[in-house]
Amino acid sequence: MKLLPVLFLLLSGGLWAQPQSAAAIDRTLPEFGFDRLELGGDLFFLSSDYLAGRRTGSPGNEIAAEYIAAQLRAYGYAPLNAADSSYFQTVPLRKIQSPVSAEVRIGERTYAHGGDMLIVRGPEADVSGPVVFANYGWVDEEEGHNDYANLDVRGKIVVTRPGIPGDQGQQAIFRGVSEKAEMAASAGAVGIFEIYALPYPWQGFKGFLGGERMSVDDGTPAATIPYGFIKFEDAFVAELQQGTDGLDGHLTSTGMRSADMGSRNVGGILRGSDPELADQYMLMTAHFDHVGVGAQGGGYYSAADSIFNGARDNAFGTTSLLAAARAFAHAPPRRSVIVLAVTGEELGLLGSKYYADHPLVPLEQTVFNFNTDGAGYNDTSAISVIGMGRTGIDEQIERAAAAFGASVIANPAPEQGLFDRSDNVSFAAKGVPALNFAPGMTEFDDVIFKYYHQVTDNPETVDLAYLKRYCQIYTLAARLIANRDDLPFWKEGDKYEAAGRSLYGTGK
Ligand SMILES: [Zn+2]
Repeated sequence: MKLLPVLFLLLSGGLWAQPQSAAAIDRTLPEFGFDRLELGGDLFFLSSDYLAGRRTGSPGNEIAAEYIAAQLRAYGYAPLNAADSSYFQTVPLRKIQSPVSAEVRIGERTYAHGGDMLIVRGPEADVSGPVVFANYGWVDEEEGHNDYANLDVRGKIVVTRPGIPGDQGQQAIFRGVSEKAEMAASAGAVGIFEIYALPYPWQGFKGFLGGERMSVDDGTPAATIPYGFIKFEDAFVAELQQGTDGLDGHLTSTGMRSADMGSRNVGGILRGSDPELADQYMLMTAHFDHVGVGAQGGGYYSAADSIFNGARDNAFGTTSLLAAARAFAHAPPRRSVIVLAVTGEELGLLGSKYYADHPLVPLEQTVFNFNTDGAGYNDTSAISVIGMGRTGIDEQIERAAAAFGASVIANPAPEQGLFDRSDNVSFAAKGVPALNFAPGMTEFDDVIFKYYHQVTDNPETVDLAYLKRYCQIYTLAARLIANRDDLPFWKEGDKYEAAGRSLYGTGK
């Protein structure tokens, strides 16, 4: 009874069209016939002014989602969401906005929200009380650390150092944002402020956290007391750290505003050509959202151009995802393929995290994540791979690049921590071998910054011959990985190896 599928494969050419690792690459594969004008069509549509920067939660983002779904439907992909036979997965999001107004007085000094103070969490409040310095305002019973152990903060407004004990890095500061308010509230405080010390200009920080934010609605309760940052005068910081005897305070806030909303991931499934391997899925991803218009963009804009079109970031990657989807529809790889365009990347990898937590195909059957996303390019003779050397797929990448006369830039700009800045990390954290495929970039230089998250990132400025080559290499590399005899896996000692072993079982 095995004959039929084998015979079908032979007749359809499916088996012989697929290059094995030792075989020469078949130059009749669809990716060898890509057309730069057709690819440009996707790029220009997705980065059109009318999509207004595709911001998560905006109509432009929804139109992009509809477009991608329509393409997957046209290519013959099965809907990813079996529950409602649709190409969509709704990601429940909460939109959070700053208080309309807030103010805190400390002794003689007054700080207004949006001026030298920024409330980032917490409800409406109107409270008075002494101001007290509480070191880091941190409690970690396992580490035996409790800044409130010998400090009475009941009914008081707490001021703390930024970060957590032993770590004043950016990650630690953001961890503090989500945890310190409840630590202070449990100790009886009525408000908490951190001394601002992040390595960015205060203006940029206000733009980042002071506007509208989006988070996945995971049921986490909102902070019960106001929490914020103050950009104190340097001399006053020293005074505060000596102690705050005698300073009284008054805090008012109209409270953070929040509203529930949804945005959508878009995906389809293509069955693999090899019945023995078709229950294993290669997950191909690209984020289709960008940052929006005007002040939403976080960069310079003017009346003449206020739209952050995101042609490179990431209409470029989305175009490559669709190109691969189209090519695979004509000549499927051996393993099955999930094509998933994710939303919410720019707001914190929200769409990919949500999918990784709520997968529509079991993650243990998802054998690889091949993400396509980049900041831009400054070397059109190459492609970049962030995560090269970590999952055993280097040979397939090298062969695909060489087939189109390009070289591979392995792990560029290490100081930027790029692996952890795109959607691949959402899957890596679950153990799925993952990497980010990106346009050729040697370093974050002026060419990259000219367009990266700027209103200048327009489709007219994209090199379509390079877009074509990028799409070709992405597609062929994905095909070679999906056709391997054995499965990719994390290199021994990789930080995600243990997660991979627990996801797939230790037999790997
Ligand atoms: Zn991006």
